[in-house]
Amino acid sequence: MAKIALVAHDAKKDLIVEWATRHREALSQHYIYATGTTGGRLQVDAGLTVERLLSGPLGGDAQLGAMIAEERLDALIFFIDPLSALPHDVDVKSLLRLAILYDTPLAINRSSANAVLGDLSEATK
Ligand code: PGA
Repeated sequence: MAKIALVAHDAKKDLIVEWATRHREALSQHYIYATGTTGGRLQVDAGLTVERLLSGPLGGDAQLGAMIAEERLDALIFFIDPLSALPHDVDVKSLLRLAILYDTPLAINRSSANAVLGDLSEATK
């Protein structure tokens, strides 16, 4: 079982719900964390069991960054909105920087999410 974090910016929340619904069975083999609003959508609309952290702009991205630095997270799936300015851009940058620094498997769109989840599922078989 891997510990996976799921995060989506507002314009990508429908996409992550659709993706998580499609991959519900594979995701249910793992322990899922999510930022607050993303996690609520995943519970209600995708039927996933998730541990919800703070909302991203209120510190949820920073919580995930700390988990990566403490090596308590195995993968980050982060559906980023490339078209909007975000008030918590510094937190997003910090989270991505830590994922790169600690060589954490990182997905930032649907096709890379498929690849990361496929690798984790293979590894935990
Ligand atoms: P949210 O946070 O799931 O609480 O919307 C995501 C983010 O913007 O980082």
